[in-house]
Amino acid sequence: MNEKVKVWPGTPLSEKDIIEKRVLFTEWEPNLKYAWDAGVGYGGYFAGLKEGRIVGTECAKCRRVLLPARAFCEWCFRTVDRWVQLNDTGIVNTFSVAYTGTAAERLKDPLVPALIEIDGSGGVAIMHLIRGGDPWKVKIGMKVKAVWKPKGKREGSINDIEYWKPV
Ligand SMILES: [Zn+2]
Repeated sequence: MNEKVKVWPGTPLSEKDIIEKRVLFTEWEPNLKYAWDAGVGYGGYFAGLKEGRIVGTECAKCRRVLLPARAFCEWCFRTVDRWVQLNDTGIVNTFSVAYTGTAAERLKDPLVPALIEIDGSGGVAIMHLIRGGDPWKVKIGMKVKAVWKPKGKREGSINDIEYWKPV
């Protein structure tokens, strides 16, 4: 390469020129609003949660339940076949008794995050919290049931389930 760098006419600006307001400029805050489409699968899953139901999809080829619901089976590379309504009960797959909160703060009363295998899902588990009992008595294999927010307070999120209680 033996080309000369072409220098365009004009005066280049530096950051210092802008900071010291040697050039005319304007600042403004854009008023931007976004809407995000969760898609068919996740959209159905979130809509189900808002109604107090756990909804998944099923692929007839691999006979697998997808939870959260998805429109596409990534194992079989095909569209799923049907919606499935699952129970709001399950068993504790694994758990932890945590004296540290999500902001790394110390907690007097521990949280019990757990993987909960949803009944009727073929072993699919979701991450959530267990409350309503002695945290040190939680066991792997323990049966739990979802405690839902009141109907008017649900917003189509996994947090529409307040927690899972031992049954
Ligand atoms: Zn499949």
